[in-house]
Amino acid sequence: MNAPLSFEEQRQRMVEEQLIPRRSFRPLLLEAMRTVPRECFVPEEHQHLTYADGPLPIGEDQTISQPYIVALMTDLLELEASDKVLEIGTGSGYQAAVLAYLAAEVHSVERHASLAKAAQQALSACGVDNVHVHVDDGSKGWPQAAPYDGMIVTAAAPRVSDTLLGQLADGAFLVVPVGGYTGQSLQRWQRHGNEFIHDTIAPVAFVPLRGEEGWAADEWKR
Ligand code: SAH
Repeated sequence: MNAPLSFEEQRQRMVEEQLIPRRSFRPLLLEAMRTVPRECFVPEEHQHLTYADGPLPIGEDQTISQPYIVALMTDLLELEASDKVLEIGTGSGYQAAVLAYLAAEVHSVERHASLAKAAQQALSACGVDNVHVHVDDGSKGWPQAAPYDGMIVTAAAPRVSDTLLGQLADGAFLVVPVGGYTGQSLQRWQRHGNEFIHDTIAPVAFVPLRGEEGWAADEWKR
């Protein structure tokens, strides 16, 4: 019998099989996905599925996104090494760690204190020291550190609010899934002075964005 693949080997295989055939990613994005240890962010009971081609439960009814979706959303931000980024929906902290590999500073907002705490611990344990996790309603962004050179929402928003767009730096991108429980489309918005242009990238399925500018419990039906 062959020895089981190490996490390192599984990570390289994930990049070769799940990422490269699906899109022409920027080289640095592939380097981030080959390097950031997803196993740090996956709960004990799902460790054997760490590099599977799908999302996984992380508690509080939330999920860590599929590796390909993390790669796609990050690639769309076109980050540079000096950038400051905002993530809304820290969840496990994995997406934040990928952003932190490519950018200088990441602010990540999570409404569940238990998830924020676990994510912060996982990030520290894996040596990621340029992510600031904030426990708050991120549906209005995080104005305290705006403007951002990139913004990413990792939960489904009912609409793209002016509050979020107003926190983008000139030329920067906001990547966000927009829609309800039957499905969403991944949108990318870019600021040009006081104008915003957007395009639609792909159909996606995320858990709901809650909070003041998110979905109310009775609006999001299963
Ligand atoms: N990026 C995460 C996946 C997040 S799942 C990862 O890499 O693991 C979506 C997350 O958004 C959940 O943790 C959920 O609690 C959080 N969320 C939903 N509404 C939010 C809000 N208004 N403010 C902050 N976080 C929110």
